[in-house]
Amino acid sequence: MEANTVPGESLMMELNRLVQEEVKRSSWWELRGKDCTILGLAFMALPLRAAALALASARPVGALLLGVCHAVITIKGTHLSSHSGICLWCLQVGGAFSADAAVHGHVKFHHAHTNVLGLGDSSLWKVPSLSREVYLFIAPLAVPVITPLVAVAHLRGRPFLSSLRTVLLISLGLCSHLWILLDFCGFSFLSALCCMFLTRSIFSIPYIHVNIFQHIGLSMFSPEQRPKRIHQMTHGVLNLPRNPLLDWTFGHSLISCHIEHHLFPSLSDNMCLKVQPVVRRFLKQKSLPYQQDLYLSRLRLFFHQYRELMVLARPSPSSWASNERPGIQTGDQSEDRTVQEAMMESEERC
Ligand SMILES: [Zn+2]
Repeated sequence: MEANTVPGESLMMELNRLVQEEVKRSSWWELRGKDCTILGLAFMALPLRAAALALASARPVGALLLGVCHAVITIKGTHLSSHSGICLWCLQVGGAFSADAAVHGHVKFHHAHTNVLGLGDSSLWKVPSLSREVYLFIAPLAVPVITPLVAVAHLRGRPFLSSLRTVLLISLGLCSHLWILLDFCGFSFLSALCCMFLTRSIFSIPYIHVNIFQHIGLSMFSPEQRPKRIHQMTHGVLNLPRNPLLDWTFGHSLISCHIEHHLFPSLSDNMCLKVQPVVRRFLKQKSLPYQQDLYLSRLRLFFHQYRELMVLARPSPSSWASNERPGIQTGDQSEDRTVQEAMMESEERC
């Protein structure tokens, strides 16, 4: 009851204060150390996985290890670097994608306009011409091939030097990967290409699933009538359960702490996990939703309602975006910007 009478802005400030108290109590190891260690281990495992691939008997293990390490660097690593703005070269060398396009699409659009129709409504993930079976289980395997092509398409209109740097870094990543397989592991050219494709596509299916499961089918908002940030994120974002493999390769912020990540995007994966009880308790106390669902349950939903969710025209804006709900001021997010600035300043002080 009380939550409906308190303006959303005050709720966000209150939650931010609680989270920042948790941040202040945390050590460097908790703030950054754990995630940096996981990424460091993925880089350091390079000689080990190459050695395993060089031994014919250990090739399946080597390929699996290579796929896991590649996913840690290109999914968890590039996601964190797109938010922190550091090590963006890793996004281009490892992920074969343009850093500018990733920051623009993920940070400036997806996060800034989460579930706002026409801006951050995840419609770029929709391919209505594909059947549900192809979209959900076959097409994702093409992600390693499509990614560099999309990156090149994004270079149109960009400054020449920036485009050249992106092309060189992407080429460096692809060529060095191929060179290791050819020269160090002793693969033929065709086998090396197949191994590269296989290891880069191991996590492609969950990658596409996670991107659509956590936003599509939830509340969508009109660009003219947005809810406050805390309402936008609690109604438009969903958490999946923890999964040891995806926790390591995708990171908590993309799987089990997606709500926390959208509310506090500058927190590391480990910190999102640490503040999760605080966020969940606060939202419950204020009668705000804390949306969670099982991976298989979302998969079933998207499989059976594929047409409604992924093919038909845009959904209607949620009634959250209208003036019908008390406590929701619409159209003006200037106060939200003040909250974000306060959050950033507070985090910098820590
Ligand atoms: Zn993010």
